[in-house]
Amino acid sequence: MKIGGLQKITLIDYPQKVACTVFLSGCVFRCPWCYSPELVIPEKIEKHPELKKEDVLSFLETRKGKLEGVVICGGEPTIHEELPEFIQEIRDKGFLVKLDTNGINPGVIKELLKKDLVDYIAMDVKAPLEKYNEVAGVEVDKEKIKESIQIIKNSGVDYEFRTTVIPEIHEKEDIEKIGEMIKGAKKYFLQNFLPEKTINENYLEKNPLLEKKIEELRKIASSFVEKCEIR
Ligand code: SF4
Repeated sequence: MKIGGLQKITLIDYPQKVACTVFLSGCVFRCPWCYSPELVIPEKIEKHPELKKEDVLSFLETRKGKLEGVVICGGEPTIHEELPEFIQEIRDKGFLVKLDTNGINPGVIKELLKKDLVDYIAMDVKAPLEKYNEVAGVEVDKEKIKESIQIIKNSGVDYEFRTTVIPEIHEKEDIEKIGEMIKGAKKYFLQNFLPEKTINENYLEKNPLLEKKIEELRKIASSFVEKCEIR
């Protein structure tokens, strides 16, 4: 497991908590607009500075009583065998843990829940199933995506689903189909695409959705979930 970054404080990544974020390198997806190519593309990971696990844990030791939670994101954290052990070490220091995942490893999500290692799960639901390969940039086992959604909805821990809305990809009917996939979920967030740093440089030329358009999508999604907001 390679730790590719540590954001020492965040007020927005863990709802209602003051937290820090640990970035784990490596991902099985290649979403063309991914904002973190340095945590995804093997050659870029190679060149990107690595943090030692011990240093992250020592940092956390100094933040006891100051930070409430730790967000584990990536890349895709669930690809790492050492993840449960790492989270356990974080929990042993008294922190809450939020996991950010693309949902490709339902078995790992299940294991983390069974061991009571996560307090909050945020899963990206990237597209309706028929568009998943295009949107994730690889062939995706859609059964795993469906399974993760069900596991998370029935988990008993706090959770959210979210979609980064990409111009020319996500149409109204796609949001409807995603709504069906996550029907009855507590929270769903639509995130507008930002052309700042992407895996596929063509995406740097695309514009984010207009506020009016994304609000339209939010209204559509709202009928499927308890709460839908734009982030
Ligand atoms: S946006 Fe896609 S490629 Fe980038 S880390 Fe997330 S799942 Fe992986």
